[in-house]
Amino acid sequence: MPTCAERPVILTGDRTTGPLHLGHYVGSLKNRVALQSTHRQFLLLADAQALTDNAHDPAKVSRNILEIATDYLAVGIEPDLTTICLQSHLPALADLTLLYMNFVTVARLERNPTIKDEIQARGFGRDIPAGFLCYPVAQAADITAFKATIVPVGEDQAPLIEQTNEIVRRINRQAGRDVLPEARALIPRVGRLPGIDGKAKMSKSQGNTIPLSAAPDQIRDAVRRMFTDPNHVRASDPGRIEGNVVFTYLDAFDDDPAAVANLKARYIRGGLGDSVVKERLDEVLQAILAPIRARRNLLARDPGHVLDVIRRGTAQARGVTEATLRDVRDALGLFTLHEPGGIVGDTHRMQYAQQ
Ligand code: ATP
Ligand code: MG
Repeated sequence: MPTCAERPVILTGDRTTGPLHLGHYVGSLKNRVALQSTHRQFLLLADAQALTDNAHDPAKVSRNILEIATDYLAVGIEPDLTTICLQSHLPALADLTLLYMNFVTVARLERNPTIKDEIQARGFGRDIPAGFLCYPVAQAADITAFKATIVPVGEDQAPLIEQTNEIVRRINRQAGRDVLPEARALIPRVGRLPGIDGKAKMSKSQGNTIPLSAAPDQIRDAVRRMFTDPNHVRASDPGRIEGNVVFTYLDAFDDDPAAVANLKARYIRGGLGDSVVKERLDEVLQAILAPIRARRNLLARDPGHVLDVIRRGTAQARGVTEATLRDVRDALGLFTLHEPGGIVGDTHRMQYAQQ
């Protein structure tokens, strides 16, 4: 068993734009819970990134910091094994972002397929906030600041990891040595869960989610409204599986694949109503979400404990990220103004940390 210091480093995170949902559960959270005992894992509450398309609603971004940290603990993230930290309170991340922006072109950022999709989904047209266009650079700063080599993410994030590695190669080439490691995306079997409306991706910003905190009625209602096969009008009609969200969800969440295969065969043949399939999915989702909701309710009674977890994690992460910033600046030969007892600026940061 490798010691804590030798374990491969994992960094992932979530934009604090809304409570976590089933897409996060299959797309990333399950991997994070499984890997935390064998890896050195950091989870970033990405409030600075959330602001890049939510500057008009900072209250939402702030409110969801506690919500998401509570979701982490409710799904089984252990603060003794995983460091949970707050992006906006790690100034080295902003410093690295500023530095990396010089190693990427605007044209390259505009070509990023994830960014293109997200610009369209948000209806920005030509009014793209500069922070939003540059968030892949900030994400490169996040990943490299922890020297992470593994990033458990959904499929939509793969182009962003590629962008990170391009920046890493440029920095290393400029430095003349490998000061930063490249990272690998760890994408699970279900890398992209569609929304309950049938849209390509369940997403906080699209309002098509089932949150992990959903009440039993809310789950039942979401399943009832779920997109199926529009041509499957009567139970006796033959139905289609492709693009039928209820079956996609059964594939993702039902741990009895033989039973799902049987339902599929009957549905395709005709003679199986949507309501029967939906009932099965409702049962499966209720069983997954009930224990998460119960733990969430307990945690919600003690927000001070959750805040403490974030505070401790952020303090730990500050040391790690400041050390990387120093490594990168040194490797590039950038000028550093020393003062007795440290680097100019560190004292300010320490005061900021203690507030
Ligand atoms: P937003 O709409 O604000 O971008 P989001 O729902 O896309 O929110 P993020 O915080 O951007 O959530 O994503 C956090 C992580 O969860 C990423 O690794 C992302 O790939 C993964 N993820 C998000 N939605 C899904 C999904 N529907 N299926 C699989 N993985 C997902
Ligand atoms: Mg997203």
